[in-house]
Amino acid sequence: MSDPTRPKGPKIIAVANQKGGVGKTTTAINLGAALAELGKTVLIVDIDPQGNASTGLGVAPEARVRTTYDLILDDAPLADIVVKSPKGNLYIAPSTTDLSSADIEMVANEKRSFLLHDALRQPAMDAYGFDFVLIDCPPALSLLTINAMVAAHSVLVPLQSEFFALEGLSQLMLTIRELRQTANSSLRIEGVVLTMADRRNNLSQAVENDARAYLGDLVFRTVIPRNVRVSEAPSYAMPVLDYDPNSRGAEAYRALAQEMLEPKVPVGA
Ligand code: ADP
Ligand code: MG
Repeated sequence: MSDPTRPKGPKIIAVANQKGGVGKTTTAINLGAALAELGKTVLIVDIDPQGNASTGLGVAPEARVRTTYDLILDDAPLADIVVKSPKGNLYIAPSTTDLSSADIEMVANEKRSFLLHDALRQPAMDAYGFDFVLIDCPPALSLLTINAMVAAHSVLVPLQSEFFALEGLSQLMLTIRELRQTANSSLRIEGVVLTMADRRNNLSQAVENDARAYLGDLVFRTVIPRNVRVSEAPSYAMPVLDYDPNSRGAEAYRALAQEMLEPKVPVGA
């Protein structure tokens, strides 16, 4: 039976952090794969011009005929863009370097912050029956990232377990707060996930302790360990869950998906 309290359509999550190399793409791919393993239908929307999520899921550059550039800037129909991964219920909307000019091209458009929002609400979305849409953001608080956070119900923030990790987070939180007052009043923080952690390393442990002290329940209990299998998987064009299903990285992303699906106790309850 369908849940009458569940909003119609997918839950849309922006995977964002303006720092590069913190695990956004890795988290989008592997959390998406883990949700798909749990039977959810998932779309990963790659809006980083580097196209790492597209490559990591096996969409060869020559196969990217129409991309998220067309989705955002040319009202392209979803069916022209979305590619099904071998996993079946995991789909990807790929990107190419075309997207690097998107910020400039969007500026003059009066709906510039809502282009992805509107694209992801086209009627064709219903036919796919997506449960989750994960938007893999570029490493900047650019107009593309703003588009993702306006389109999204929530923001998932990967935080690399290293020195300076918390720096820059206040800027991201400020942007989220501003968007709540303007373009997206119901935007939530899905959570902060610690990535590339090494609990034997004092610094990594210190970052985790600081994050939990400052951010409390916003930090997922699940911590993603640094695991070489995770970094190898993209060169085999698959999620680590398929590349090495029993690796610590795969297990951690499965645990993260389970944790995300847990019912949340509302703050203040
Ligand atoms: P971002 O999208 O934020 O720029 P990536 O997801 O591309 O970051 O990760 C940056 C690099 O770190 C990549 O080479 C990736 O393979 C590697 N990496 C990410 N997570 C892990 C992990 N848990 N263990 C080992 N390497 C990782
Ligand atoms: Mg990335």
